Amino acid sequence: EYVIVDGEVLDRTVAKVDIEDRGYQFGDGVYEVIRIYNGKMFTGKEHLNRLVESAGKIRMKLPFSPEELESKMEELISKNELDTGIVYMQFTRGTSPRNHVFPAGDVAPTFVAYTRKVARPVESMEKGVRTILDEDIRWLRCDIKSLNLLGNLLSKQKAAEAGCFEAILHRGETVTEGSHSNISIVKDGVIITHQADNFILNGITRQKVLEICSNESIAFEERAFTLDELSSADEVFSSGTTVEVMPIVEVDGKPVGNGEPGPVTRNLQNLFKGEIERQCGN
Ligand code: PMP
Repeated sequence: EYVIVDGEVLDRTVAKVDIEDRGYQFGDGVYEVIRIYNGKMFTGKEHLNRLVESAGKIRMKLPFSPEELESKMEELISKNELDTGIVYMQFTRGTSPRNHVFPAGDVAPTFVAYTRKVARPVESMEKGVRTILDEDIRWLRCDIKSLNLLGNLLSKQKAAEAGCFEAILHRGETVTEGSHSNISIVKDGVIITHQADNFILNGITRQKVLEICSNESIAFEERAFTLDELSSADEVFSSGTTVEVMPIVEVDGKPVGNGEPGPVTRNLQNLFKGEIERQCGN
């Protein structure tokens, strides 16, 4: 298995990162996860652009352009003969003696990437998944895809311990997103999902779904919705790179609609699959 450390393709067993890497000590870095279907990146450019944006928001300059990163990822995918899975990549603010203050300009970011086989979650996508509610205790820059994921982890762990797929997060009465995905509801045929601001990560899957809605004249609103709207929704779904469009059939022990994936979500799943096949073949 090959990985990339600082731009070099290496065998995983010899790859090393320093104990004073700022990612390790502070979570001082940003990352991306890109889906691979048929050995090809899906929405790769969008993910790489978001990576550059996330880095900019934490005042970090990446030593590679999106185009260079794209070709490095292609090399890694092909060396690892990956068919269906993900590529994970992260940049930290580099290695230097521990100090909250940023290191001097000559300290280069640490770049790590690897691939992993991940099947499409076909069974869950077919049947739908259960969720819990949890207070969103994260910081106020959830738009940055940063390595600091403790708030997300605590919520996801709670969900896992309840036998659930996801924790739907809310700040008081307002639903924001999931611990590792974006959340949308459907009411009277209209899709409602939180606007892209500092309270959510603007998911690439979320954006792709909204683009599909525009093209197919499916009504949607980008606005915050409440816990009451969530509990009276006709349908609820989660979206994310690894989970695609995932029907949610239960929230905190209460069924969504009739407890089965609904027609709007089903339609979106099919249209999304079509988009994957257009980009990556089938
Ligand atoms: N929100 C959070 C908190 C996430 O971690 C993710 C990524 N899995 C998403 C939303 C979905 O983003 P994307 O569609 O780009 O994977």
